[in-house]
Amino acid sequence: SPGLHVVATPIGNLKDVTFRALSTLAAADAVLAEDTRVTRTLLAHYGITTPLVAYHEHSGEGVRERMIARMKDGEALALVSDAGTPLVSDPGFKLVQAAIEAGLAVTPIPGPSAAITALVAAGLPTDRFFFEGFLPQKSGARRNRLAVLAGVPGTLVLFEAPHRLPEMLADAAEVLGSTRPAAVARELTKLFETVRRGDLAGLAAEYAASGPPKGEVVVVIGTAPEDAPGPEADADLDARLEAALAR
Ligand code: SAM
Repeated sequence: SPGLHVVATPIGNLKDVTFRALSTLAAADAVLAEDTRVTRTLLAHYGITTPLVAYHEHSGEGVRERMIARMKDGEALALVSDAGTPLVSDPGFKLVQAAIEAGLAVTPIPGPSAAITALVAAGLPTDRFFFEGFLPQKSGARRNRLAVLAGVPGTLVLFEAPHRLPEMLADAAEVLGSTRPAAVARELTKLFETVRRGDLAGLAAEYAASGPPKGEVVVVIGTAPEDAPGPEADADLDARLEAALAR
């Protein structure tokens, strides 16, 4: 059908694609892709020959206008990213906004996202979670952002580049507290999928020792354990111990 189809694609394992995603990609007039080479591999694997067009958020107003005009002419365009769900730390928001403003149909075709995949494997509470995506790359800005996140009353889900993981975990342990439970999910859905679980101090120490991991990672961080004595509780405990001993 005409309009914009936002299609989720695999995050590693090529089998993680829905029947609906494949039929939408096959039936579209064009597939808008972040990196046409990456998407060409996926389409070729499933024998899909739909033409590809490069689209990134910085493609600019001109490209978006042309795509909107094509859809107004009745074309069906499918938007994908390199992996996972478009718009989730990936291009597409401006195009979806423009399509809605133009009165075009926007149809989501759900599928994998590294964020949800990591969350369900982390073993941390899932009733409330906050997706942060990527933190700032510089330590100062990253710590400031972590200080804001410290007050979020739920599990945090963050993306990180593998080479920044050791320093990011060190900053997180320092700003959020070393006893928070956390997990690092690596190479999800791929051959070397691993989930390391521990607390922030432990994971920070592990990655400080091992160095950056190979492959892609998602960091999931739980809220502070309720029984862990914070600095104030510690002071309180000291006072109570002293009082008890003085008796
Ligand atoms: N839109 C994508 C999604 O919904 O999964 C996320 C795109 S974002 C640019 C890329 C980040 O997602 C990586 O830096 C990593 O944090 C995470 N990621 C993607 N694939 C992954 C995988 N197979 N295993 C672990 N993390 C992954």
